[in-house]
Amino acid sequence: MERNDQFTHTLQQKDHENIWHHMSIYNDKAPPIIEQGEGAWITDSLGNRFLDGMSGLWAVNVGYGRERLAKVAYEQLKKLCYAPLTQSHEPAIRLAEKINSLLDDDYMMFYSNSGSDANEVAFKLIRQYHQQNGEGNRYKIIARYRGYHGSSLGALAATGQALRKFKYEPLTPGFLHVAPPDHYRRPKGQSIETYSLALAREMEEKIIWEQKETIAAVIMEPLITGGGVLIPHPTYVKEVERICRKHGVLLIMDEVICGFGRTGKLFGHQHFDIRPDVITMAKGLTSAYLPLSITAIRKDIYEKFKETDGYSHFRHINTFGGNPAACAVALENIKIMEEEGLVQRARDLGIQFLHDLQDLLELPFVGDIRGLGLLIGIELVEDKQSQTPAKPELIAKIMADCQANGLIVGRNGDTVEGFNNIITLSPPLCCTDEDFEFMVAVLK
Ligand code: PLP
Repeated sequence: MERNDQFTHTLQQKDHENIWHHMSIYNDKAPPIIEQGEGAWITDSLGNRFLDGMSGLWAVNVGYGRERLAKVAYEQLKKLCYAPLTQSHEPAIRLAEKINSLLDDDYMMFYSNSGSDANEVAFKLIRQYHQQNGEGNRYKIIARYRGYHGSSLGALAATGQALRKFKYEPLTPGFLHVAPPDHYRRPKGQSIETYSLALAREMEEKIIWEQKETIAAVIMEPLITGGGVLIPHPTYVKEVERICRKHGVLLIMDEVICGFGRTGKLFGHQHFDIRPDVITMAKGLTSAYLPLSITAIRKDIYEKFKETDGYSHFRHINTFGGNPAACAVALENIKIMEEEGLVQRARDLGIQFLHDLQDLLELPFVGDIRGLGLLIGIELVEDKQSQTPAKPELIAKIMADCQANGLIVGRNGDTVEGFNNIITLSPPLCCTDEDFEFMVAVLK
């Protein structure tokens, strides 16, 4: 739809007067008003087109403009718009069964609305589980610095990015942090395997120093995403799992970004041959067409919630979790992924991306390029020797140049020095070959 300048100007003025934007540092410049999307592309109210190299917030996995998703939402809303999950409905049942078949048929699904919700559910549920399992002292949760787990008080407490917490503290107590695997910045000369084992050992020491009988769980993303695309060596993940088992600590995998094909496997943890106790998912579950999240809990944990004494059931509720239309959309979204082979597509394009971007490493300010599936990070530095994060001005300029050339990229990282010096890409998995070539060309 064509929109003229005056129309956009009026909308932007109303925006400026009425909307408090997420995460935005105040400025007088109105953000673009996005009007429509198709495939990997979005169009603003002035008719400018952008390839959305971040899938919104790492979420629109099957791409924009899917009529099938709109149709199932419409049909479901007409038939039954809502039933709380104190009752049940068919889309929720079918989706839970489907997700289980994609894992190993060993989980119970608890529905909520967002990634933060899903993680809050995990924390509450795990604390209650330990109490009902005769280990009521276990309440502490270990996470990693640079990991992000959400914006609500508990999920933010689990988050290991100080600037997101600054001025909102004190948050929920009982969350501890250890260093994440950052291969690019590991001690010079150390092998990745030795480094990985040392980090896992650090986590074990934390568990022991804190008195292992007080540790409830470890939460981690399969790979740290918003914290700068930090991909662990399989040794690290397997070792963390082993340590958790050894000390009676549960393992929560936050698949909010990594889930649903993003990393080239359906779930990110499937790269590492582990069995999480709890898996949280959102974003790609519906490709962001409607809000929905799931906390998947192993059935042996669920067993401890079966007492009928009035106190032992999980006393948690939310109004919208498992909305019938959102569940129907999630099912159709997964069907699209399967029919179009989008997980494989993410894997193949991810490999191609890393290959095609290698030339960029010749630039003095490109320190590292890494990725898994369609989740790519380009770390910018002042110089390769010092690895000092590049100045915010350089990163802002690169982002603006990309945007001026029609490509939206992200900016993440939260390195020790406090800058977001990593350009991120997380485009829709349905990118065509032309889309892919376009992204590489703009980046170059
Ligand atoms: N966990 C991870 C890994 C995320 O990246 C996010 C959001 O970006 C969340 C949790 C929180 O999800 P939401 O924004 O839907 O609450």
